[in-house]
Amino acid sequence: MVSAMTKHAKLIAGNWKMNGGLNANEALLRALLQGAGGARCDVAVCVPAPYFSQVQSLLAGSPIALGAQDISAHAQGAYTGEQSAAMLKEFGVRYAIVGHSERRQYHFETDDVVASKAEAALANGITPIVCVGETLAQRDAGQTEEVVKRQLAAVIHVNGHCISEIVVAYEPVWAIGTGKTATPEQAQAVHAVLRAQLHHAASEHAPGIRILYGGSMNAANAAELLAQADIDGGLIGGASLKAPDFLQIIAAVA
Ligand code: PEP
Repeated sequence: MVSAMTKHAKLIAGNWKMNGGLNANEALLRALLQGAGGARCDVAVCVPAPYFSQVQSLLAGSPIALGAQDISAHAQGAYTGEQSAAMLKEFGVRYAIVGHSERRQYHFETDDVVASKAEAALANGITPIVCVGETLAQRDAGQTEEVVKRQLAAVIHVNGHCISEIVVAYEPVWAIGTGKTATPEQAQAVHAVLRAQLHHAASEHAPGIRILYGGSMNAANAAELLAQADIDGGLIGGASLKAPDFLQIIAAVA
């Protein structure tokens, strides 16, 4: 359990999505390993599952952690195409993104499924990065708060006893891969709502739970976003595929 007093370092996590290749991965990781030496934050890369073994060896002994982009809610059995938490553990996976909006949208993952995936990760010592976020239509309809609270509530409901172990990522769907970033004020406002919800669920742990911002974070906007009181890091898609950009985001952590 994270103690009430623990304040984690900020976390910068790359989400490679369905990108990469053996040669490209090696070049990217070698550049990151060379440049991330003095990082003042935790760093992770969430890579496609077929590359776990390659990335595990390239990152061995380094401070960069390996992450997955999804995890099965089930322990084993007839779930074609899925990877269990125990399998991820065998490759040294430390973080697993759960409930990314692309999984909610294209794979119809519900809040309950996302909560079960977080539970499977936690039961195996993997930190779930729980994604929440509203669509543009929901924001325009004034539903942002209601949507993110509903998504996080499902995870708290199932995992309340170990909620201090999760990482939350606020990812407005309209900002993902679009080049439109939430302003620091827009992001901070939602992060404060999420912090209050975590406080309600586990008051003594809430200040230490990392809430990342994700959605077109890049080298130019990272510093201002990361300076907000309740923004404890970033989940980075496109910009995590280019070593100089990802390294500049890491360097933007004060
Ligand atoms: C993401 O997919 O989690 C993400 C934040 O993507 P991008 O940075 O490309 O918007």
